Amino acid sequence: MYFSYHLEQAQRQALNRGLIWLWCISLLAILFLACRYQAYLEAGMMLTERLPWSFPRQLGLTLLLQLAMPIGWFVMLGLTHRRWRVCILLLSVLWSLGWVGIGYSIGVLELRGGASLTNSYINVILVMALIAFYPDSRLFYAFVTPLLLFLLSEHLFHSFDFVWLHLLAVGLVLIVLEAGRRLLHNWFRLAVRNEVENLRLARRLETLANMDELTRVANRRHFNHELSKAIVHSRHQHVPLSVILSDVDYFKRYNDHYGHQAGDACLKEVAQQLLDSVRKGEDLVARYGGEEFVILLPGMSGREACEIARRIREGLACLALEHVGSLVAPVVTLSQGVAEYQLGEEVDTFLQRADEALYAIKATGRDGYRLAALPTSE
Ligand code: GH3
Ligand code: MG
Ligand code: MG
Repeated sequence: MYFSYHLEQAQRQALNRGLIWLWCISLLAILFLACRYQAYLEAGMMLTERLPWSFPRQLGLTLLLQLAMPIGWFVMLGLTHRRWRVCILLLSVLWSLGWVGIGYSIGVLELRGGASLTNSYINVILVMALIAFYPDSRLFYAFVTPLLLFLLSEHLFHSFDFVWLHLLAVGLVLIVLEAGRRLLHNWFRLAVRNEVENLRLARRLETLANMDELTRVANRRHFNHELSKAIVHSRHQHVPLSVILSDVDYFKRYNDHYGHQAGDACLKEVAQQLLDSVRKGEDLVARYGGEEFVILLPGMSGREACEIARRIREGLACLALEHVGSLVAPVVTLSQGVAEYQLGEEVDTFLQRADEALYAIKATGRDGYRLAALPTSE
């Protein structure tokens, strides 16, 4: 699913580039054919009466349609992938038919070498189509089929000495095109697959680099990064921002009594409780170190953050993780320092205020929260 989505995106990108390239080459080819027509006409080597329409007009019309093509592309940009593909298929058939028409005219018009020019020029266009459309077989064949059919039926309106040789050559061209298309397409798929694998790996690494291994909440590194971003946002948008710094009460005694492994399990439970108490996708819970956690609350004032701290305290009380060694309650509790960011404040000062509030609650009994004092102006 993930791979096919990326393949689709990569195909669309590659085809867009291929189409632009083919478009530029087609314009050059039309200009070349116009110059050639003029030179041959002046040299009396053009049998204009053999063609039921005017070749310069045909070239002019093709040029106009070609110049109008970018408008079509622009309109198609907004289409869904499926509709975009149908439109591109139709466009490439029409484009190809335009070249068939020009090929026919050259073959009929030119006194000398018309048919062979038609052949080589159609072959060049087929190779160009291979380069431009190899990521998408249907699009490729929508473009090359009219050209190949034209080559196959060419002996009906031009005389060839060895028709069977001509037909054999067309068959060989088809084999070369299909083999080349497969080769390029396989390389393309491989490149996309490698890119998808690299993306997956990079995402996994990023997740691991941002996560605390034990509790699986964010780590301090990621918290610091998100805090810097949140402060910039708060400054620009004039929205409040708060943090809660919390510390498990008497956790050393917990370890001493239940053992280190039980202590680890307890930290996991506390982390989960913190996650359950905040807004998903907006707030960030991180392990600050040891048995300390920090919560980033973008858009929240200090008073609102205190409400979250109260909710955490109640949640832990309900969870009632036994802690017989605690001197403040028979269950695991947290001390929490809450601080609201003040405009122009340094990051360190902001966190220090939360820390001071945390230690103030530690000093006055634990199992509670306190809102930090505003920074002192020097
Ligand atoms: P206070 O209420 O003052 O915070 O007391 P405390 O015992 O919680 O604080 P102290 O700083 O004395 O002890 C923290 C303990 O947390 C000590 C350390 O062994 C434990 N600790 C830190 N990280 C981990 C961990 O990853 N797993 C476990 N099981 N324990 C940890
Ligand atoms: Mg501590
Ligand atoms: Mg502690």
